Amino acid sequence: MLKNLIPFRKGTKLYSIVRQKCPRCHEGDLFLNKNPYNLNMLDKMPPRCPVCGCDFVRETGFYYGAMMISHALTTVMAVIVHFTVFHYYGWEIAPHLISLLTVIIGLFPVVFRTARTIWINMFVAYKPDWKK
Ligand SMILES: [Zn+2]
Repeated sequence: MLKNLIPFRKGTKLYSIVRQKCPRCHEGDLFLNKNPYNLNMLDKMPPRCPVCGCDFVRETGFYYGAMMISHALTTVMAVIVHFTVFHYYGWEIAPHLISLLTVIIGLFPVVFRTARTIWINMFVAYKPDWKK
């Protein structure tokens, strides 16, 4: 099982990022709806962690920085798509554009949420003893 692999253990940043959990307690959900493809709820986050009370909106415009993460993730995806398409079609422009647009638009909700999760994980550390 993927979720039983060692890097996904509770207490690691990867756990919080993959499961989209609170970076401090790793128990509360970062987003109100677990399905990223429910586009009405895509960016809806509770203001505080429902479990430990960690502030998810640390300051006004906090998640603008997540756009840099999103840009990096999208660039990595674009490089992978281009190399894959190049392997099959060479430098034909149409397959590159169609597959790139399909992947970027199709994975936008996942990238959006992953970028936010990575961003807040850069500023909040895991505290297993947050109850004290
Ligand atoms: Zn929490």
